[in-house]
Amino acid sequence: MKDSRVLCCVPHCRRTIATERVAPHTQWLCGSHWPLVPKKLRGFKLKADRTYERSKDVFFATFHEADEHAKSNNGGVSDEIIQRLHQASDRREKARQRCLRTWDRCKRRAIETAMGI
Ligand SMILES: [Zn+2]
Repeated sequence: MKDSRVLCCVPHCRRTIATERVAPHTQWLCGSHWPLVPKKLRGFKLKADRTYERSKDVFFATFHEADEHAKSNNGGVSDEIIQRLHQASDRREKARQRCLRTWDRCKRRAIETAMGI
């Protein structure tokens, strides 16, 4: 799928982008349609993305810490680390859901504005 392209989410827009340029995402708004999303909403989206990236960093750092702890304790991990791992995992999932919801709102606004709704 090296040469595959992703179409802009706005119906009848024929602009595409290389799949690898949007990966891991599978949807995209082109340079003409993304600016139709109100600036405030675009800000929410960027903030949600940053929060999600941070939550992933925290999760992987905690996971690494648990792994190191297990290595030096014959496989044993403290309840405290396990609890933090669960919390980091929950936060990451909530941040991911928020990203998806915010993206859906952006997409809807771009489509509505482009269609004159
Ligand atoms: Zn477009």
